[in-house]
Order: sequence, then C-alpha cells, then structure tokens
Amino acid sequence: MKFDGRVTLITGASQGIGEAIAYALAREGAEIALLDIQPDKLEAVAENIRRDGGKAATYVADVSRSDQVSEVIEKAIQAHQKIDHVVNNAGITRDNLLMRMKEEEWDAVLAVNLKGTFNLSQAMIRHMMKNRYGRIVNISSVVGVMGNAGQTNYSASKAGVIGFTKSLAREVASRGITVNAVAPGFITSAMTEALPDEVTENFMNLIPLKRFGTAQDVANAVTFLLSDEAGYITGQVINVNGGLLM
Ligand code: NAP
Repeated sequence: MKFDGRVTLITGASQGIGEAIAYALAREGAEIALLDIQPDKLEAVAENIRRDGGKAATYVADVSRSDQVSEVIEKAIQAHQKIDHVVNNAGITRDNLLMRMKEEEWDAVLAVNLKGTFNLSQAMIRHMMKNRYGRIVNISSVVGVMGNAGQTNYSASKAGVIGFTKSLAREVASRGITVNAVAPGFITSAMTEALPDEVTENFMNLIPLKRFGTAQDVANAVTFLLSDEAGYITGQVINVNGGLLM
C-alpha cells in the first residue's frame, strides 16, 4: 500500500474533512495519530480504523495552545517512534460582518486556524528536519483567496495559512520536507450545514461542476500531496472547489 510504514498526524480528526482524511490514509496503510480538542468522537474514529485492520491512536489538545501541542507531539513521537506527515486541518468559524464582529470572534478564529497551524508545524519541524523527510499539508479555504462577506476573520486566517505554507516550504525544502496547502471550496459538512439556505443556494449557482464537494474530494487531494508521487511539489495551493474559483 501507498503509505505502509508511514505515520500521519491529523488535527481536527473527529469529524468532517479530518475524519475522511484519516480513513483515506489508513486505507492506504498509514498509522494514524488523530488529534482533536474533545476525546469522545475521536475515540470512535480510532475504533473505526482499527475495526478495518488499521492502526490509530488518539491525542487530545487545543491546537491554539502551544503548551498542549508540544506536550502531545512529544508523546506522539515517542509512541510512534516518528511522524512523517502532518495535516493541519482543525478549523473554526465565527462569522459576522466586520461592523458587528466582536474582538473574541476575530481572536478565536485566528488562534485556531492560523496560530494552530503555526503551533503544530513548529512542534514538528525539528523532528522532520532530523529525519530529512516530512510532508505538511495545511487546510486553507477558497475564501482565503477570494474573500467572503461576513468572514473577514476566517478568510484572513485562511489567507494567512497560504502565506505561512509558502514561507515554510522555502525554509525546509533543502531538508526533504514539502509543505503545501489544500483550499477546499464549498464542502458538505457540519461547518457548512450551519449556513443559511440563501448562502448555500448562492454558492451552488457559482459552482461550474454543479455540486458541493465532499470530504472525500478533499481527502483525495491531501492523499496525493502526502504521497511519493508528489515529492517534487512544494509551496503550492491545490484548489478543490468544483471550479468555483479558477
Ligand atoms: P468541522 O466538521 O467543524 O471539523 C473541525 C474539527 O476541528 C472538529 O472536530 C473540531 O472539534 C476540531 N477543532 C476545533 N477547534 C479545535 C482546536 N482548537 N483544537 C483541536 N481541534 C479543534 O469542519 P470541516 O468542515 O471538517 O473543516 C475542516 C477544515 O477544512 C477546517 O480547517 C475548515 O476551515 C476547512 N474548510 C472547510 C470547508 C467546508 O466547506 N466544510 C471549506 C473550506 C475549508 P469540535 O467539533 O469539538 O469543535
């Protein structure tokens, strides 16, 4: 299988896109380190992987907290002996028009989506540099590129993830580490189910492929970027958006 002997750590792995990425990689033989902020749903995902013959362990941490992240990464490296891939997927929204946006809404989104990506990557990078191998995939968003009314905080965080990805890719390329981003468009999930009907309808009208994406569509792109076949790709943003933005 494609990822035999590889260990992949995925944040926000309890549900949605992170969960789909975990199953996709486990099916290809990777040992999975699942990280999320709450333990219960996470354990169920690990159980599903084990039931299908895969290997999975769970780690609980708030990605916005550097102390929790470094503690958990240390534990995970000890438990698995190494970590080859990190998928920075944990993300939140706190939508509001700028006029009404509370400082806490701004801070919370930047702390999880952008600082969380920084925390995880920083905690991992020495280990990957020592191994002279690593793959980091950061989950951005189409709105980090095109913007979206009501999401100044979220789109700023996701645009930040793209800048972070490109800069880190340049820093670590000589050590055999690639860093890329995936920018999903409108993906059916808990995050998008919370949106009003009018917003979803408007998005559908703008999607040339005339369907919303699935978590599996995103997982397919992530799987490719983590594979040996993607070894010459770094600092890139792969758009998975049905043509919403070209
Ligand atoms: P989701 O269903 O809400 O899943 C996100 C996961 O991250 C949840 O399990 C959540 O746990 C966890 N999480 C939240 N805050 C965390 C923290 N501080 N530390 C650790 N884990 C935390 O979202 P999704 O739709 O699968 O989205 C996954 C990623 O794709 C996000 O980065 C999102 O921005 C991005 N994305 C999604 C779409 C879309 O259409 N769905 C489009 C573009 C980009 P709790 O549920 O316990 O809070």
